[in-house]
Amino acid sequence: MTAPDEDETDGRRADPADAFAALSDPLRVDILRELSAHRRTTGEEVTGFADLRKGVGVRDSGRFRYHLNELRPNFVEKTDSGYRLTHAGLQVVAAILAGTYTDDVSKGPVELDSDCPFCGRPAVASFRSGACFVTCGEDHPLFQWSVPPNAAADASLPDVVDLAELLAFQAIEQALAGACPQCYDPIETAVAVTDGSEQPTFRAVCDTCGARIAGPVSFCLLVDPAVAAFCRRHGLTLRDDHVWEFPFVGDDAGGTVVADDPVRVEFDVSLGEERLRATVDDRGDVVAVDAPDETT
Ligand SMILES: [Zn+2]
Ligand SMILES: [Zn+2]
Repeated sequence: MTAPDEDETDGRRADPADAFAALSDPLRVDILRELSAHRRTTGEEVTGFADLRKGVGVRDSGRFRYHLNELRPNFVEKTDSGYRLTHAGLQVVAAILAGTYTDDVSKGPVELDSDCPFCGRPAVASFRSGACFVTCGEDHPLFQWSVPPNAAADASLPDVVDLAELLAFQAIEQALAGACPQCYDPIETAVAVTDGSEQPTFRAVCDTCGARIAGPVSFCLLVDPAVAAFCRRHGLTLRDDHVWEFPFVGDDAGGTVVADDPVRVEFDVSLGEERLRATVDDRGDVVAVDAPDETT
């Protein structure tokens, strides 16, 4: 058996289906794990062929080399002194260790200590298929976001909800800053008004990894420093309160489309005696915040 040489694998970029097909054999997953373990324990990125084969525990070096080469070039890179994980390889290992592709964790439904702003019934959380859902007895959709199964496995549902909210707002902030929250490639965000729905939505789709973010435009307000400071003055913070408890996200979800081309959405936020007006542009950035007035 001859091993494929460098020229047969390098410079080729498989499509995603082919790339994942390369992971179909458990031995290949073991190779990725071993490269990752070597990196963690020694601090060195590159593992020599012999050490790698020994670590994985395969006697037949021809068979081992065949599977190792199937991981190139997408997940493993060959260097002069051995093999190392590519960026995609590192992410796949992280996902495998997190159970993203394998664990089937389900939890709930469980009532939260919070009410639905639409109907006043208790908010209800559940976790299934790697996503956390919050709704109510009337099925009002309050919140939904992905959470890695390993993070949900041993946590209580209220903690899973808190984590999901944290991840959601980190992702939105990162997308608004122009970087995909999953692969860090450039990502564009947009606010779109879809026909037939009264509320515009905030979206970002990554061309590189396919990551998708979608949510109400009001989520963009929550990560704006001026709006966040206004809310904090009135005792509302993302750390201590749920997203659906913010008045501009919940019942009187006050987004008004004030321009179509480009889209501008205006929010009127009243908290206590103060009122704040904020405008979100077609990218999801908050472009204007009017200083709070006393409402009389
Ligand atoms: Zn409800
Ligand atoms: Zn991406």
